[in-house]
Amino acid sequence: MAKKVLKFGGTSVGSIERILHVAKIIEREHNANNQIIVVVSAMSGKTNELLANAKSVSDKFDKRELDVLLASGEQVTSALLAGTLIELGVKSKSWLNFQIPILTEGEHSNSRIINMNVSKINKFLSEKGVAIIPGFQGISKNGDVTTIGRGGSDATAVAVSKIFDADSCEIYTDVDGVFSTDPNKIPVAKKIDKISYNEMLELSSLGAKVMQPSAVQTAMMYNIPLEVRSTFTDRHGTKIFDQENLDYSKSVTGVAYSKDDAKVTLTNVQDKPGVAASIFEPLSKNQINVDMVIQNISVDQKTTDITFTVKRDDLLKTIDTIKNNKNIQYKSLTHNDKVSKISIVGAGMVSTPGVTYRMFKGLAEEKINILAISTSEIKLSVIINEKDTLLAVRKLHTTFDLD
Ligand code: ADP
Ligand code: ASP
Ligand code: MG
Repeated sequence: MAKKVLKFGGTSVGSIERILHVAKIIEREHNANNQIIVVVSAMSGKTNELLANAKSVSDKFDKRELDVLLASGEQVTSALLAGTLIELGVKSKSWLNFQIPILTEGEHSNSRIINMNVSKINKFLSEKGVAIIPGFQGISKNGDVTTIGRGGSDATAVAVSKIFDADSCEIYTDVDGVFSTDPNKIPVAKKIDKISYNEMLELSSLGAKVMQPSAVQTAMMYNIPLEVRSTFTDRHGTKIFDQENLDYSKSVTGVAYSKDDAKVTLTNVQDKPGVAASIFEPLSKNQINVDMVIQNISVDQKTTDITFTVKRDDLLKTIDTIKNNKNIQYKSLTHNDKVSKISIVGAGMVSTPGVTYRMFKGLAEEKINILAISTSEIKLSVIINEKDTLLAVRKLHTTFDLD
C-alpha cells in the first residue's frame, strides 16, 4: 500500500463533468489499495474572477478580506469533489484550511505553509477514506485565512507530501507533462521524460507556468520526487527529481518566456565609483528587486548610461524612487514595459561551449534585438521587444535541437 498525494489543477476541475472524470481517476487509485490525499485548485478562471471582483470594489481592497475571498474558490471544488466521490460510493471527506489546520506564516497573499495537523486525516486514511484538501491557502497563527501565491496549489501538494510523508506526489494538469517549451504556444515542443529540480526551478521561475517555483524549491529542499502528468490522457508524465540520476545529451533542456519585466534606462549618469550604489540602494530599501543591469562604456570618460530591469508591477514605484533620489544626476529617465524575457535552461550548458554564441546568432538571424542579458550556470536570459516573443522562442527551440 502506498500513500499518494494527487493534485488537480484548475482546468482539471473546471466543470462538473471534469470533476466526475477526476473522481474516477481517484476511485481507480483508491481501488488499487492506495491511501489517497487529494489537493485541488479552484475551477479554472475562478481565482481571476474573484480578484476582478475585489478590484472592482477597490484597487486597495483589504488584504485580509482578499484572502478570505480568494480561498473560497478551492472550498467549492473540495466539496464538489468529495460529494462526487461519495456519490460514486467512495468514502471521502473535505477539510477546510482551518479545520486541518494548515498553518502558514508571512504576509497575506504571499504566505508559506509551515505545518499541518496530520492526526485527523491520517485516521481517516486508515479507515479507507479519501481526504480532500483545498490548495493555495492556510491559516495564520492568529487565525486569519491566508493564501500562498498564485499557482500555490502546487506548493500545497508538495507540503502535504512532506508533512504526511507520502510515497509519491502527482501533479495532474492539462498537458502531458513538462515540455521543452509551452506546448500550447509552440506545438512542436517535446515532452521531457525526466528533469532535475534545478532545471525545473529555473524553467518555472522564468515563466514555465506548469509548476509553481516555490513548490519546486520545497520539493528540491526535501528531495520529494514529483510527477507532472495529464488528467485527460493516460500517457506517462514528466518525473522531476535529483539530477544525479540524469545524463545530459543536450546542452539546452527547455526555453521559457515571461512578460513580467520592465526595462529602465538612465542616461548621462556620472561615471565614478559609488554611483551605481546610489541608484540601487533606495530601490532595495523599497523592496524593488533589480534583475539585469547593463552599464554602457563611457565615451567621454565622465558619464555613462545605465539600463536595468525590474518586475513590471514595480515599474511605477521604481520611477518614483529614482525621481525622488536626490543623490544622483542624470540626463533622462526612460522606461519600456513592452518587453519580454526569453530564457534557455539546461544543466548540459555547463559542459558545452558556444551556447551563448548560438543563442545570439539565432536571434540575430531573426533580426531580434537584444536589450539586456543575464546568465547563471544553467540558464541564459535575454530581454527583447515583446512583439518578438514567440518568434524568439520558436527560433531558439529549433537552434538547440528541441523541435
Ligand atoms: P494547472 O491549472 O493544472 O495548475 P497551469 O495552467 O498552472 O495548470 O499550468 C499548465 C500550463 O502551463 C499548460 O497549459 C501550458 O500552457 C503552460 N506551460 C508553460 N510552459 C510549459 C512547459 N514548458 N511545459 C508544459 N506546460 C507549460
Ligand atoms: N487557484 C489558485 C490560482 O489560480 C491556485 C492554483 O490554481 O494553484 O492561482
Ligand atoms: Mg498551476
